[in-house]
This record gives sequence, C-alpha cells and structure tokens, in this order.
Amino acid sequence: MSENPTPAVARTREELRAERARLDDGDVAVVMTMGALHEGHARLIRVARERARHVIVTIFLNPLQFGPKEDLSRYPRTFDADLEICRAEGVDLVFAPTPDVIYPDGDPGVRISAGPLGDVLEGASRPGHFDGVLTVVGKLLHLTRADSAYYGQKDAQQLLLIRRMVRDLDMPVEIVSVPTVREADGLAMSSRNTYLSESDHEVALALSQALRAGAQAAPEGPSAIRRAARAVLVAEPLAQVDYLVLVHPTTLQDVPDWYRGEALLAVAAKVGTTRLIDNTPVVVGPGGGALDVFSGVESAPGT
Ligand code: AMP
Repeated sequence: MSENPTPAVARTREELRAERARLDDGDVAVVMTMGALHEGHARLIRVARERARHVIVTIFLNPLQFGPKEDLSRYPRTFDADLEICRAEGVDLVFAPTPDVIYPDGDPGVRISAGPLGDVLEGASRPGHFDGVLTVVGKLLHLTRADSAYYGQKDAQQLLLIRRMVRDLDMPVEIVSVPTVREADGLAMSSRNTYLSESDHEVALALSQALRAGAQAAPEGPSAIRRAARAVLVAEPLAQVDYLVLVHPTTLQDVPDWYRGEALLAVAAKVGTTRLIDNTPVVVGPGGGALDVFSGVESAPGT
C-alpha cells in the first residue's frame, strides 16, 4: 500500500477536466465526501476500487446543504490527512474545489428539488438540506462524468433520495450503497464524532444500542421494535432525541403494526452540541432482525 503515488489534486474545473481526461481508459467511480475522512469513507473507496478501474474522491464542504445555525464554520477540515488516506487507498484523483468553483454565480437559482421525501426525518429538522445535497450531487456527477457513485447506508435518507433522483431524472450512473462502518463499541463513524468529548461518546452509544435493541425485537413486530429501542434512549436522558422511527424503506412513512418485511429503524439525537444520526435496516416479522451486521461491534453489557 505504501508505494501508492499521491493522487492528482484538482481544485478548479479546468484542472478537473484535464485530470479526468487521463482516466478515460476505463470506468470511473466517484466517492463524494465533505472531508475529515475516516474509516467509513475509506470503506467506500475500497468498495469503489474493487469495482471500478479508477476512483475519484471529491472533498467539498457544500454550503448549500447547511442551515444558517448549523456547523459549517466549525466542521473539521483536515485536507493533508484526507489526501494521505486517499493515497493509501489508491485513489486516482481528488477533486477539492472551493464554493466559488462550484457556485461561480453565488447560490444557484435553479436547484434539484428532493420533493416530499426531502421534508421528513432529517429534512424536517433541516429545511432545504436535501435540495442542497441533491443539487451538489447532480453537479459533481456531471463534473466528474462518473459511471458509478458510492454512498453510505449511514445516511439512509440521502442514499434513498440520490437513488430516486438518478431514476427520476434518468441520470446515467450506477448508485452503490455501502453498509455503515462502526467503532468497536457500536458508534457509527462520522466526521462529527470529533466534536464529542469522552463522556459525550458514552452518551452517544445509546443510539446504536437502541437500534440493536429494536432489531432484536424485530420478530415481534413494529410496536415491540419501537418499544425496545425507545427504552434504551429513555435510559440515557443526556441524549436529546429528535426522532426515533420505524419507517418503510422507500416511502419513509411509519409502518403500521401489522407490517411485516423490510423497514428502516432510524434515530437522530443531540448529544452535547452535536447532532448525530444512525439507522439500521431491519426485517420485521418471524425470523427477522437487523440487516446491518453491526460489524465488529462488541456486545455491550446487558444487551
Ligand atoms: P460525509 O463526508 O459525511 O458527507 O460522507 C461522505 C460519504 O461517506 C456519504 O456517502 C456517507 O454516507 C458516507 N459515510 C459517512 N460515514 C459513514 C460510515 N460510518 N459508514 C459508511 N459510510 C459512511
């Protein structure tokens, strides 16, 4: 691994065009990130590398998807370490533009609308967030001319909306999802975890523990799942829950109690000043359980 060359870095559209032209001898995958790369991003890059001839990583902190009171200004910026991860993972090209490169005329008047699926869950707490996400994803797909694009299950609603956008707007790209990568204790990896103090981290474990408890109750049906997950969160009052839902995986509507089949158990909570999200796909009904393998997670006492 150590002998991988440092990837080419493009900062402008012209540099991207020139570097992208060198990758025309095979198919190109893109992994879109906001930087502060961790093992979750590395896993996306690895899956992309296994499946495509070339991999482009974009590092762009997209102002359009942050609300005025959100954490854009304090979001971690670690470009040198990010580039090193990209080198170690064998990335061909890093596209790291500034906002004026992506939005040369300022905020775009024309945007991609997420529609009603963008108004629930994360969208209810973050108005306009998914329009900002889809607009930049659409632009980056055009700019990189990628054949395939890789996204984490960690951001399940984002993944669903990107799939919908590609289908609804006939975008010629394959979307590939990658399961959530977790710390050994179960916490879903996130660039925002760097905001957490040690004690915040302990509190934050309630999210993944609630998902696991919910998934374990999956054979008994939706109310048992919700009850089991809720009980874990209630026991951790320092986690301020925004939502805990069991929804249909494509409509994001609450599933009724008679529902059996695949569903999404999703949670969002504030821990200290940090808003965290996590989810697991579950199969509801006899023989059901988590589809997220919670890989590498050590069993927590009492769960
Ligand atoms: P971000 O830089 O947070 O915007 O994330 C960039 C991409 O990495 C998105 O597709 C995320 O869903 C994905 N990602 C972030 N954290 C994880 C994780 N813990 N496991 C898997 N994918 C992740």
